[in-house]
Amino acid sequence: MEDYLIKALAYDGYVRAYAVQATNTVAEAQKRHDTWHTSSAALGRTLVGGLLLGSTLKGEDKLTVRIQGDGPANGIVVDANGKGEVKGYIQNPHLSLPLNEAGKIDVRGAVGTQGMFSVTKDLGLKEPFSGQTPIVSGEIAEDFTYYLAISEQIPSAVGLSVLVNTDDSIKTAGGFMIQIMPGADEETISKIEEQLKTTPRISTLLDEGLTPEKILEGLLGTSELNILEKMPVQFKCDCSKEKFGEAIIALGAEEIQAMIDEDHGAEAVCSFCNNKYEYSEAELSELKAEALGGK
Ligand SMILES: [Zn+2]
Repeated sequence: MEDYLIKALAYDGYVRAYAVQATNTVAEAQKRHDTWHTSSAALGRTLVGGLLLGSTLKGEDKLTVRIQGDGPANGIVVDANGKGEVKGYIQNPHLSLPLNEAGKIDVRGAVGTQGMFSVTKDLGLKEPFSGQTPIVSGEIAEDFTYYLAISEQIPSAVGLSVLVNTDDSIKTAGGFMIQIMPGADEETISKIEEQLKTTPRISTLLDEGLTPEKILEGLLGTSELNILEKMPVQFKCDCSKEKFGEAIIALGAEEIQAMIDEDHGAEAVCSFCNNKYEYSEAELSELKAEALGGK
């Protein structure tokens, strides 16, 4: 199944709901960063959450989610935009912690329980919007929910789920975000709360072949969904040799000469996608000339 996200309204527009199937997206990240199972789940959940939050933005607008906890993950960074593109990394990709008491991947053990969850939104305005809340769970979905409630004042339910195979590859990944609009009646809210309690994890539902549409119907307890949009999602990084070249130019001529003299070249690695870019001595000389204002 191709990765995609749906946006829907239910209960006369008082409930906004989003669901995403992101198995290929998370699998791509897993391969690029060679994440082990705990890191796969922690990064994967954050990527899925980033896609869901990002889908509330307009096309070119983008956001960055940063989870900086006191656990051995050492921090997770995810960039997403309104076009369904996401990229991200975890500082420590090689975590394979023992399963937790519930027999699940110990994401909290990787993330930690103390620290900050922050979102920066670049909406094409002068100043980016930025909000942050303390980590309240470390399981990530609850941290998205808390952030939305406190920082954006939107009562929400967020579910993020990644199933990892025994060889660390990704079996399924996906998530949902349900937002209650002002004026929703109590009956609707308690009905959805009941549904949320009884619905299995979304990765399990995806594993059973359920579509995001069917998952939302189940979560909301209604088949009367008004699907507003269906959007493909993917792991995509916008890095390039040129962009890293600009970063090298910014280091200054002296520093570039040192790379030529000492290393006879340079290599840049993108932290988001792990692509490597090599610069020969001749290319570095050109960058040096640019740094000196030669072009
Ligand atoms: Zn990249």
